[in-house]
Amino acid sequence: MTTYGDVHRRFLQSFVYHPVNTEAEALEAYRLTCEEQGQEMGSLNQLVDTINATIRKYTTLEIKTIFCELTGQKYYIATNTADLKWTKNTSRYSKNEQLIFRKVLDDIVRSETGNISSITCLNVYSNVNMSKSEMSATIAKFVRDGWFAEKKGRLYMGVRAAAELEPFITQVYQDMTSSCPLCKKLIFWGHRCGSCPEVSHLHCLRKFFASTSGDAACPACRARWHNWDEDYLSDMEESS
Ligand SMILES: [Zn+2]
Ligand SMILES: [Zn+2]
Repeated sequence: MTTYGDVHRRFLQSFVYHPVNTEAEALEAYRLTCEEQGQEMGSLNQLVDTINATIRKYTTLEIKTIFCELTGQKYYIATNTADLKWTKNTSRYSKNEQLIFRKVLDDIVRSETGNISSITCLNVYSNVNMSKSEMSATIAKFVRDGWFAEKKGRLYMGVRAAAELEPFITQVYQDMTSSCPLCKKLIFWGHRCGSCPEVSHLHCLRKFFASTSGDAACPACRARWHNWDEDYLSDMEESS
């Protein structure tokens, strides 16, 4: 489907109401749209490419494809790419909630490891006019909405923040952000080979190692990857 039509329009509309979609959800939205419009399904990526090429002429809206840093899972997210103000993207939250949001975001970007302890932030953010249980509920809401991801009591950057706040984060934290050696995109949390400081995305490493026939050598320094095997991967997925 390379010509913009009703299927593209309806699919885009569904993203306005539900901006964060896993690949399976995006495919289901596509399937339903085709069914409704009586059309054959084609490639999801081609559909998204055509939508982006068309709406780029009139809006700053875009459907971004992004992978979760924790699980490597693929997401499709409708985002306003021109927004340099994080508040525009989070305006549906209360003032206090936005304050917490900004602090968590700041702490994750500034952290050495790309993640922070959820318990510590409840104690540290004591100057926010909220009880700890309210704060904890607020953070849980941000996790549910895709802004942050939580695993084993630690908070990571979520797919939505990575997609929607990329322009803001790159501008504000210029010297504090890193990029993945494989896809050159922004990375907050990823995997190290154990021999060099480079951090790579899980999904990028998977693709890279598959293309090198399972030869698990670090893409940056070529050292043997110390813990790359299927057990390690399934452990990552189970616990996320
Ligand atoms: Zn990458
Ligand atoms: Zn290395």
